[in-house]
Amino acid sequence: MPELRRHERQERRLMWFKVDDKFAMHPKAMAAGNAALGLWVRAGSWSAAHLTDGRIPAELLGALGGNQAAANRLVKAKLWEVEPGGYQFRDWSDYQPIAEDVKAAEAAEKDGGSWGNHVRWHTRKNVYNDHCKHCRAGQEATA
Ligand SMILES: [Zn+2]
Repeated sequence: MPELRRHERQERRLMWFKVDDKFAMHPKAMAAGNAALGLWVRAGSWSAAHLTDGRIPAELLGALGGNQAAANRLVKAKLWEVEPGGYQFRDWSDYQPIAEDVKAAEAAEKDGGSWGNHVRWHTRKNVYNDHCKHCRAGQEATA
């Protein structure tokens, strides 16, 4: 489905999973160990991409290069919590942008683009386009 993929790239902004600068020597990171942290990083990146706010379905452990033992280490190190059907990053919203904010920013960005196009192609050229919501809104306001 190359068409869909291209469409998704345009719609979805690049998200980041952030690792703070104190994490390298943090007791939780030391306790988990690098093998489990590989799972932690990949799971974090996956969660950021899918806007799950740090929720990781258990059936994804293998696909993320992890296993039950690694997940258990993350739980024991207090980086993850067990929840029904999977795991939850602890304190996700303290470090990562939450889905609600990401979606709001995307919506604002999209609307910003459509407003810019409206101003450039309609307002400045004195053109009314029925497919443009800003044109329609202007029509209603002056009617
Ligand atoms: Zn317009």
